[in-house]
Amino acid sequence: MTREAMLWKPLEGGQAGCGLCAHRCVIAPGKQGICGVRENRGGRLQTLVYGEVVAAHVDPIEKKPLYHFYPGSKALSIATPGCNFRCGFCQNWEISQAPRRKGGGIAGEPFAPEDVVRAALDQGCRSISYTYTEPTIFFEYAFDTARLAREAGLLNNFVTNGYMTAEALETIRPYLDAANVDLKAFKDETYKKICGARLEPVLETIRLMRRLGIWVEVTTLVVPDLNDGGEELAAIARFVVSVDPDIPWHLSRFHPDYEYTQAPPTPAATLGAAAEAGRREGLRHIYIGNVPGESEDTLCATCGFVLIRRRGFLVVGNALRESRCPSCGAVLAGLFD
Ligand code: SF4
Repeated sequence: MTREAMLWKPLEGGQAGCGLCAHRCVIAPGKQGICGVRENRGGRLQTLVYGEVVAAHVDPIEKKPLYHFYPGSKALSIATPGCNFRCGFCQNWEISQAPRRKGGGIAGEPFAPEDVVRAALDQGCRSISYTYTEPTIFFEYAFDTARLAREAGLLNNFVTNGYMTAEALETIRPYLDAANVDLKAFKDETYKKICGARLEPVLETIRLMRRLGIWVEVTTLVVPDLNDGGEELAAIARFVVSVDPDIPWHLSRFHPDYEYTQAPPTPAATLGAAAEAGRREGLRHIYIGNVPGESEDTLCATCGFVLIRRRGFLVVGNALRESRCPSCGAVLAGLFD
């Protein structure tokens, strides 16, 4: 469905300036932005993907991953097609890259915001996740849904590449409770080459989210020979510590996918070394994902007591008492019932 876009301004010659993400596209009449889902029609910017849902599932919140945000709760997870990045290792490329691929498209199933909220309530969800593709580029739909969700007592979270502008983040802030931000590398050249983007706007989004009081967790997909150098991973950890050492850092194992098939799956030892580097830099909560047998329990950062036990994405035990460790009384950072 097409709708007038938010966060844009008319420019000379009928062009439209989009202020939704850090690409800040200037779009000529009849053309689309880099994401392929915002189009200048007659001098006015339109979103082409409002309510065009290509994926809707009830997921454990751990699958986002968000480990310090109502652990064990369910999230109705939705996506429309498109992305403002073009990462060669995208695991959801069939839907994220569809608008820009020959023979692809933007058609989804209509799912109105009020129906999303009703479905979330009917299925006992605590939150709605805007995920699988990039929520920034379906902002209008996410905004309307999140507002209704908040009125209905639900929470909202984004799983995002962090490339939104400060204006976009400040606009959604009243309804956005949490986000998992992908920090894919710590080199601008990697962002340019692999994602068609830049590093600094992602760092600024993470900083701004914390300043705005949004609960943030960070994920890094560790890709052999791309970002698995000890110094680069330590630099990521150092940055996260500089924002807040309580931000959980998820280290995710790479599997060859889409266009990026030149690297093998990430060795478990590399992920272990990355976690060690993160701990040395001062991060308090580090999780290794996609590796069978790796513990993803949440430990008290003060005394090491096991606070939340997980088996895969399932929470099998939660010892928290009013967000505190029952052993030493330290508060666990995050949002909990
Ligand atoms: S959302 Fe980003 S990529 Fe899409 S049109 Fe706007 S500035 Fe360009």
